[in-house]
Amino acid sequence: MNQGQLLTMLPLAATAAYTVLLVAIIVRTGLSNARSKWFAAYLVAGLVWSLAHFLLPDLLYSHINAKLFAASATLLGVTTATHIGQPADRRWLHMGAIPLILAILLDLIWPFPPPLEVRRWVWRPPSGEVLATVTWGALYLLIVGLTWREYRRTRLPWHANRLLHWAIFVSTAAFGELLTIMPSPWLSASGQIVRLLSVASLYHAITSHRLFDVRARLRTILAFILVGLFSALPAAVVLTVSLWVSETFQLSVIPFYVIAVLVISAGFIAYQPIRQVVERVVYRFFVGQEFRTGAIVSSYSQAIARTLDVEQLGQVIVDTIADVLQTTRGALLLVNPADQGHEVEIVPNADHLLRGRKEFDAQSQFILTLLEKRHPLLQYDVDFSPAYQDLDEDERQWLIELGMELYVPIHNSDDLDGIIALGPKKSGMAYRPNELELIQVLAEQTVIALQNARLYSELNSQNERIRSLNTDLRQQNTRLEILDRIKSDFITIASHELRTPLTQVKGYADILTHLNESGPLDQQKTRQIMDVINRASLRLETLITAMLDASELEVSGIELMPMPARLDMIVQHAVEPLEGALRERKIHLQCEGLEDLPPLEVDFQRMVQAFGNILGNAVKYTPDHGVITVSASLAPGVDDKQDHLEIVMGDTGIGIDPQYHELIFEKFFRVGNPELHSTGATKFKGGGPGLGLHIAKGVIEAHGGHIWVESSGEDEEQMPGSRFYIVLPVPQEREPQNGEPETVERELRELEIGD
Ligand code: ADP
Repeated sequence: MNQGQLLTMLPLAATAAYTVLLVAIIVRTGLSNARSKWFAAYLVAGLVWSLAHFLLPDLLYSHINAKLFAASATLLGVTTATHIGQPADRRWLHMGAIPLILAILLDLIWPFPPPLEVRRWVWRPPSGEVLATVTWGALYLLIVGLTWREYRRTRLPWHANRLLHWAIFVSTAAFGELLTIMPSPWLSASGQIVRLLSVASLYHAITSHRLFDVRARLRTILAFILVGLFSALPAAVVLTVSLWVSETFQLSVIPFYVIAVLVISAGFIAYQPIRQVVERVVYRFFVGQEFRTGAIVSSYSQAIARTLDVEQLGQVIVDTIADVLQTTRGALLLVNPADQGHEVEIVPNADHLLRGRKEFDAQSQFILTLLEKRHPLLQYDVDFSPAYQDLDEDERQWLIELGMELYVPIHNSDDLDGIIALGPKKSGMAYRPNELELIQVLAEQTVIALQNARLYSELNSQNERIRSLNTDLRQQNTRLEILDRIKSDFITIASHELRTPLTQVKGYADILTHLNESGPLDQQKTRQIMDVINRASLRLETLITAMLDASELEVSGIELMPMPARLDMIVQHAVEPLEGALRERKIHLQCEGLEDLPPLEVDFQRMVQAFGNILGNAVKYTPDHGVITVSASLAPGVDDKQDHLEIVMGDTGIGIDPQYHELIFEKFFRVGNPELHSTGATKFKGGGPGLGLHIAKGVIEAHGGHIWVESSGEDEEQMPGSRFYIVLPVPQEREPQNGEPETVERELRELEIGD
């Protein structure tokens, strides 16, 4: 076959090669994803181009060459977008198709513009072809530019390598296409070969995720060349010195040989050490430092053996590996058996702020691989290997968010105990095989230390649990003791509270009888005695009513008669009986924001009773000249829930010890010694039977509300005060029925008119 035949047959051979690649991609991928589909279309364009090159006469071919290239660059653009994860199919197609249509129109309208002349070289292209060539160049610049931008953004080395590989072979394909339009037939032929080889490399990138490490390969080649050049230095010196000696001293043959042999011997002696030094320096710079595995493993084992805390262990592991391999970050992940598979938990450490845990399915390929294969797994494989394409989306996202490059399993005898996760190296280069081996050895050394640390922390948390159970138990015990005390206090309180007014009634009744027997009674004396008897029986009545209310709460719950009522009216009625005491003791009552609130739907009398009890306490436990505040606000309901009124009743009184904040709502509970309380409804610290708050709570809860107290503690000098909070539901708005009073005050008003 002569040269001419070879050049004509080349496009035919290329057509066959593109056909093989096309069949191969269909068979291997089944065109199951967008990437492979678009790449197949790109191969078809290449196939058509080389076939046209072979079949069509030159003149005809020169009218479609650039257009075919532009069309194939468009398809390569779409392939690139899908390959680097940018869904931009439409935009690419528009960018290619519009200029192509224009180019065809241009050919029809203005087929031959004036020729382009560069020195002696004259180019007479059809105008459409010029537009197609410009489009082709712009598309390639865009493809390479986009890929390069993604490459610069990517932190993980294997991900970056995939993009670099793509950018390089897209560029060589473009270069090949450029060569094919050169006037020299040999340049044109080599362009076809370069294009074909580049397309084959792109095919490899599409069909297989395992690509060679471009940067490492380039560095190794560069290192090899440099070592060769520098090692040749002794030979060059020997040659130069020998020639210089022979020329300078005009030596005869024998002395020249003697000197040459001496210089050559010196050269040979120097060669070996020079080569070793050069090799070490160049390889360290370009390929990476060699390490002494034995020393590293032994110091690592010593460091982790001293650590019993899981968090500390994680830190030691990450720090040691970061020291040796210059990793940017890392974390120890604990693997625990869970209901549905395995739970992976990040052990927090200083340079990795992520926390949290994730449950992986029993069939998760990520865990299965680490369990079965027992060697490091790359995030790159998780992202691109077909073996992981069925990985659960949540699991995949969690791993991506970890931002790690490598996962190294830590196995006990038959299960996965933990994972050492490592980020990319500071150099941005991928982990070398010997580094992966080292990390796996370190992971194997970690097994015992990790098991010990886990047992130790398990023991610690058990201890912690027992300690908190003990505290709980102590608290419950104190509460039970107090409740028990309340029961016995009841007898004391009841006898104290009931006997005092009863004794008064009986005593004064006796006096009355006695006086009556000894002569007629004067009116003033009788009124005085009757006054005392009346007050004592009123007190008895109040007490017995309170006791009955409390037992009603317990036995059947309170029977409510709800009606619309405004909060300010409730407060007003509750304060009325206290007005005398407030005046007498110079306590200032301040009400804020009680107007303009929506009406409540409550049992008015019961509410007045509850508020009266709380405000009565505020008066009792606030010293003279103190302040009592009542404020309220509307809390709108969230998510279609009911609105609520939040009412706060605060005082500047003695306050309540936090340990009694719940107990004061218990029946018959009073802070302090029941015997020491003086009885009195409004006197400072005048104690009652311990039923007021119990009844108030019962009433509020019967209305679907809540009540609680906040106070920093009891202190009769500082007077920290107490704040009682009440939350009550506001009924949904409804129209008043015919004849129904809008609020209780209207009802009261109506009653007054009736009177
Ligand atoms: P009592 O009838 O004794 O007032 P309560 O049930 O109304 O009973 O209150 C229970 C206990 O709560 C009281 O004995 C008192 O120690 C405490 N207490 C209630 N309100 C206040 C308050 N505003 N300031 C300080 N202590 C209070």
